This record gives sequence, structure tokens and C-alpha cells, in this order.
Amino acid sequence: MRCYCVLQHGQALQLVEKAIPEPQGTEVLLKVRAAGVCHTDLHLWEGHYDLGGGKKLTLAERGIKPPLTLSHEIVGEVVSAGADVGDSATVQPGRVALVHPWIGCGECAACRRGEENICIKPQSLGVVRPGGFAEYVIVPHPRYLVDIEGLDVAQAAPLACAGVTTYSAMKKLGDRIMTDPLVVIGAGGLGLMAIEVLKALGGRGAIVVDIDPVKRDAALAAGALQAIDARATDAVQQIQQATGGGARAVLDLVGATPTVGLAMASAARGGHIVICGLMGGDLTLALPVIPMRPLTLQGSYVGTLHELQELVALVKRTRMAPIPVTRRPLSDADAAMQDLHHGRVVGRTVLIP
Ligand SMILES: [Zn+2]
Ligand SMILES: [Zn+2]
Repeated sequence: MRCYCVLQHGQALQLVEKAIPEPQGTEVLLKVRAAGVCHTDLHLWEGHYDLGGGKKLTLAERGIKPPLTLSHEIVGEVVSAGADVGDSATVQPGRVALVHPWIGCGECAACRRGEENICIKPQSLGVVRPGGFAEYVIVPHPRYLVDIEGLDVAQAAPLACAGVTTYSAMKKLGDRIMTDPLVVIGAGGLGLMAIEVLKALGGRGAIVVDIDPVKRDAALAAGALQAIDARATDAVQQIQQATGGGARAVLDLVGATPTVGLAMASAARGGHIVICGLMGGDLTLALPVIPMRPLTLQGSYVGTLHELQELVALVKRTRMAPIPVTRRPLSDADAAMQDLHHGRVVGRTVLIP
């Protein structure tokens, strides 16, 4: 089978021919039908996260080393399953499913709570284990297969990361997304997904902040209440005005020093900021601000299997609109990564083997 792999961080993805893996035990072999290209793939390709102040967290420190087969937004068709799977309907050959890629060790306290996404020994597909930039992929257990009957494969793939990341973050914000406009920083694939999920949940609406006018237009086309230029000198005042005196709910999908700074400056008293983006940097924080304003600053990392199942049910129930998707052949894997790296992608690119 063909795979497009990172053989060396920062170098072009390479075509590698491998044997089609044989599913063992509880594993399921899927033929990849669609594989989304995410910003996290860029971090994995580069090999590090920016911690700010010139410091970096390398993937090697986390035990992640090339060769890597990226893509954690996978839709596949069941080919075969290991001997321990049995003959459940989920693994009937030809069944098409969305893969929950945020898999844990299954044994630690987080996994036992159902929070495999924050496992201490993650086994995530497209990160630790091989992902979807390939013709076939192994999924460790059929429970990670989510039924997407009635949905388009390329439009469903981004639900596994862009979708569940924004959905999980919005759940953390609770009722305020119903009563107050949600400030969404970053109008890339996640930002557009956030607008659609918010609409599907019946939220008040999104005020989107981005530096790129093309992405702001895409956000308005998707139904954002307002789109604000993050680089405007009065961006803070514009957000405060749009939210009626300061943001009570902010979703930072960029997670860079200037965006978190903007979120904190434009938040209302009692504001709640959830950071999902991994662009990086650091922050010097005057601590009295936390109790005196009083702010909640929270992180959110992808989502749980249960949340992905809830999200797919929401999409089916509400006929939630998909984000703009550009389909490209698997052989375009490297070019698609480069386009994302250079900010040339609106919505999501999905590779089709
Ligand atoms: Zn675990
Ligand atoms: Zn992702």
C-alpha cells in the first residue's frame, strides 16, 4: 500500500510502499476513504511545539519519532478484523465509519474515566500510531468506529479533530454560549467548524477574530455575527463593543501569545477563555487579574470518544452544514501540507486515496 510519511522532520513527505497490515486480536483494518489535513499535522511534521522564550518541546521528548504516517481525521471502509472481534455489525466488510483517533492506553485513570484523549501514554492514530495518509489503516478496536451513515466521507472526516475539538471546548463553556455571543479567535478549519457547531447547538452566535480578510469573509459566509481584524489597533474595543461590554466566552483556536493576550484584554469580568490552539509562545500574567476580574483560563485538548459520538448524532439530527472542504488525491499530501503551512487553505483539505 502507498503511505505518505514524514521520514525526517521538516522535509517533504515521502511516498513509502508498505505491506497491507494484517489485523490482530481486536484490531480492524480499514481502507482509507478520506483523510483530513490539520494544523497538528504541521506540528508533527516540524517536530516541535513552541513553548516561547526560544524554548521548544520536541516530539522526540514525547517519544514520537519518524517515520510517521500523519492524519488523524480518518474515514475508512472496513476490510477485515482480528480473531477477537467477533462478527458484530460494526465490522461488516464494506461498512464506512469515522475513526475516533484519540486513543489511550486503556488502563490509566484518565482512560478508565473515558478520557482517553488525555491519557498519559497516548496511542493516537496519526500521532503515535500510523494515521490516514495511506491506503489502509489499523484501528485497535471496533469501539473507535463511529457510524456516519448518510454523511459524505470527505465532509465527515474533519469531525474527528476540528469537530470534536470545538465541540468539547464549547461544552466546557456551558450555558454561556446560549446567552452570550462566543468570541472565536482563528477562522481556519476549526473556526469555521466552531461556527457550524454553535449554530447546531442553538447558540447565540459567533464573533470571529482573524488576521486574514479571506478567512474573515469565509466566517461571515458561514454565518458569523461579525468578523474582526485581530491586527486592528482597536481590536479589543471592537470585541468589547460587539459583545456588549466584554466577552463572557472566548474560544482561542490559535493559542499564540498575541491571541491569548487579546482574549484576556477583551474578556468581561467573569469571562471564560478556553484555549485549544497550539501555535505556541508564552504568557506573563499579573496574578491578581485571575481573582479580581475574575477570569477562567482553561485548556481543552481534542475530545473523548463519547463527545465524538454526541457530535456525530448532533450532525445527523440537525443536518449541520459541513465546513468548506477541498478534496485532493492522496498523492498531493505534501503539497496540501505546504498550502496549509502557508495559510492558503480555507476550511479543510481532505485527501482521497
Ligand atoms: Zn491511558
Ligand atoms: Zn487535528
